[in-house]
Amino acid sequence: MLTSIQEACEQAHLAWETWRAASSKDRARTLRALAEDLDAHRAHLLEMCAQETSLFHEELTPEWARMVGTLRMFADVAEVGSWRTPSVDPALPPGAPGLVGPGHDVRRTLMPLGPVAVFGASNFPFAYGVLGGDTASALAAGCSVVVKEHPAHPRTGRLLAERARAVCERWSHPNLLSYVAHEDPANHAIAQALVSHPRIAAVGFTGSIPGGLAIDRIARARETPIPVFAEMGSINPVFITPRAMDAHPERLADQLSDSILMRVGQQCTRPGVIFVTDSTHSPAFLHRLAQRIKASPVRDMLAPWICEGFLSRMRAIKESKAASLEAGSDANPPRTTSRTVRAHLWCTTLDRWNATPVLREECFGPSVIVVVMPAWDAHTSAALSGNLTLSLFADTSDEKDLARARTFLHHHTAKAGRIIMNGVPTGVRVCASMVHGGPFPACNRPDTTAVGPAALARWCRPVCYQNTPPELLPSELQQSGATTKPRA
Ligand code: NAP
Repeated sequence: MLTSIQEACEQAHLAWETWRAASSKDRARTLRALAEDLDAHRAHLLEMCAQETSLFHEELTPEWARMVGTLRMFADVAEVGSWRTPSVDPALPPGAPGLVGPGHDVRRTLMPLGPVAVFGASNFPFAYGVLGGDTASALAAGCSVVVKEHPAHPRTGRLLAERARAVCERWSHPNLLSYVAHEDPANHAIAQALVSHPRIAAVGFTGSIPGGLAIDRIARARETPIPVFAEMGSINPVFITPRAMDAHPERLADQLSDSILMRVGQQCTRPGVIFVTDSTHSPAFLHRLAQRIKASPVRDMLAPWICEGFLSRMRAIKESKAASLEAGSDANPPRTTSRTVRAHLWCTTLDRWNATPVLREECFGPSVIVVVMPAWDAHTSAALSGNLTLSLFADTSDEKDLARARTFLHHHTAKAGRIIMNGVPTGVRVCASMVHGGPFPACNRPDTTAVGPAALARWCRPVCYQNTPPELLPSELQQSGATTKPRA
């Protein structure tokens, strides 16, 4: 099951040669069989993962549902086939109205790129792991995958890869998924060799901004550069209008603290910064938020090196002297493990936040910064970079707040992949309208999404057939028909 990079990439190439020609039904059947097999081994896998990551069962259970649900969703997408968006332009005689250039019969479809290298993230061992969204979408598109083990959960990763192998062999597609072991987070030679391997045609990465950029650089430096789709870090700003704040200060504090603390703050969509104004009830909000964060139990992070990274970020914020610490401590709590932390709450002003880069970078862990703006309209001067999400709490039943919301969206929509009204950013629905991506640095490809059926298009390229007889065309292009009309 554990293979060398050379072996994994060669096997993946051979597997792709047959898998790309597999029928839609065959692809769908294999993806559904994977989901079924996983569900049959659910209890054991959940237990292993909880032990390895220190995430609670109640945190992992929805993630499990997302993993198997995503596999089933991509089975349906593969079966229907309309994701190829086939387009047919039948031949036209010279001089026909609207004809530009020669009137050839031209037809377009999508074809899979080839073996995809998948780098999952530490924090979602199921949803962004061995059989997470990148793998499911790549398999649905007709690609094989080579997954690089994540050193934060190697035992879970190996069990998932074993299940995948057993199912793929049963359905006569061995080597559709290869798995490369990697237990040392300090050793990037494996990532380098995998991304550089000539058989690899694309990369799906979920992880930190420096990690995503490093992988992208390797892919660009190859003799044949390949696309990298890197989902990276985000601070997910939350803005609260004074009216929304004064209506429900404590409810907002509860809602936001739950979102910040879930999974020890290790969520790519965790609110990292909350912008408020000094309104009548903003002190009650801050007081309640500090209370909730102070009262939250100490917990273990995913791995010692992730904990060390978090604490060093907390120390950097403290050393900047640009924010006051309202709750938390930058040391491991006494009598705990080397990955135990307390949650942190920081407070600062808009001027300081704008002027201090360390406050504006993602802190991966249980921490949030409240930024007090001098007045609501100052939100236009917040130095936001690209994010996965942007949330606004406003009273949309009030004309004035509605106008504030309109101006806010006009000003900031270019800064995020998903805009959330009166809600927290954690919790991602897997559906056709979802965008999980966004402008740099949240993602290196703002034209894509990592969640939902559209994620599949990342692993394909368009190919066009000119004056090609029907018997040589892929089935979706064989009938003549209306231009650009997707067909099942
Ligand atoms: P990470 O440290 O970047 O690791 C991700 C993967 O990339 C690992 O396999 C890692 O291997 C590899 N890697 C990292 N740096 C590398 C380098 N310089 N060269 C080669 N390979 C490298 O991130 P993580 O701790 O797993 O995950 C946490 C981050 O992921 C957070 O920033 C979080 O916001 C983000 N995240 C984003 C999303 C999203 O959808 N946007 C979802 C989940 C998580 P090593 O461990 O061996 O370095």
